[in-house]
Amino acid sequence: MRLWLNDVAARLEAERDFLTQLDAAIGDADHGVNMHRGFTAVVAKVGAAGEISAGQLLKLAGRTFVSTVGGAAGPLYGTAFLQAGEALGDHERFGPKLLGEALRASLEGVQRVGAASPGDKTMVDALTPALAAYELELRMGGSLETAVSGAREAAAEGMRATIPLQARKGRASYLGPRSVGHQDPGATSSALMFAALEQAVLADRSQRFASGARRQVSGP
Ligand code: ADP
Ligand code: MG
Repeated sequence: MRLWLNDVAARLEAERDFLTQLDAAIGDADHGVNMHRGFTAVVAKVGAAGEISAGQLLKLAGRTFVSTVGGAAGPLYGTAFLQAGEALGDHERFGPKLLGEALRASLEGVQRVGAASPGDKTMVDALTPALAAYELELRMGGSLETAVSGAREAAAEGMRATIPLQARKGRASYLGPRSVGHQDPGATSSALMFAALEQAVLADRSQRFASGARRQVSGP
């Protein structure tokens, strides 16, 4: 969870201007700045927190996000992280199934707060196919790695599919038909989070292999 939060923050730093440009076209040019400010605060809080469970880390991230980010994205992502944290509970370890429940809880939280459906040209257009791909992959007997990889790909596809849509929720909806032809900023930040999730899972796996190998070498 720490790997993921830190990687999201690094990606947001790199993509801040791009996200803001996307928001300049159909919103108020603050999405990159909002997300970067929120995740800078999250990384600081999470870095200062002692050994707490992944669920508690996510809840801390959610609370921090809500209190540092205004606009639509603050409460929406804040709720997503809080709900995901609730779903993970205080388990010290979690696997693909519980992670899937956390992803589902965060999408449900976003939709409860924002009332957006797929096709409204919001973050829901990236989150929904990502969750569907994740769950399908697990049902087909896939691993955590293939599930997060499928989710990353589906989120990116959902993000690109927002371009021809007309916005029906959020600030972009004020533009009516003029919102067509632009990629949604929130769907773009959501796709970024799924790319970070895949990277965190792969990094976690290679760390485990490395420490396992060390133990074998130094063991009896
Ligand atoms: P604001 O629109 O208040 O300036 P941001 O620019 O940070 O906030 O975030 C804009 C993004 O929020 C949009 O690109 C869209 O993906 C997402 N969004 C806006 N309204 C909703 C909603 N009701 N449900 C889901 N996502 C939404
Ligand atoms: Mg904005």
